[in-house]
Amino acid sequence: MRIGYGNDVHRLAENKPLILGGVEIETDLGAVGHSDADALAHAVTDAILGALALGDIGSHFPDSDAKWKDADSFDFLRHTIGLMKEKGFQIANLDSTINLEKPKLRPHIDKMRENLARVLETEIENISVKAKTGEKVDAVGKRRAIRVEVVLLLRRSADGSSASAK
Ligand SMILES: [Zn+2]
Repeated sequence: MRIGYGNDVHRLAENKPLILGGVEIETDLGAVGHSDADALAHAVTDAILGALALGDIGSHFPDSDAKWKDADSFDFLRHTIGLMKEKGFQIANLDSTINLEKPKLRPHIDKMRENLARVLETEIENISVKAKTGEKVDAVGKRRAIRVEVVLLLRRSADGSSASAK
């Protein structure tokens, strides 16, 4: 088993979309970022890379690289899942918390879980997405930022797809 942790922060601004776990959420303040600014997908990507001790999202998908401009963050995830499978691992489970003051995310949570489960090649029961506000304090509470934190556990694939699997 390998544990991974990832987090991500994006600034909020007007006239920007807000995409979380591949779900576009209607809001007056969206996330600013080089790619599609999907903070949940970014934190999950970082957590998987962390679990494998393969560096971070910035080293794999540098925002200085025009290739990743306005990228679909799920492409980051698909690429990272490929690395994970090469190493002979699969997702055991994932837990996440999205800190966002507004709007309420509850109606979108199951769709995010479904999207993540599909790209992570696991069951929806293994994916937890929770949402909290910033209680009107700090950058989240003042509606200046969105923050996401993720922990996950990887386990060896049953099929032992990696030659080095032990
Ligand atoms: Zn990000």
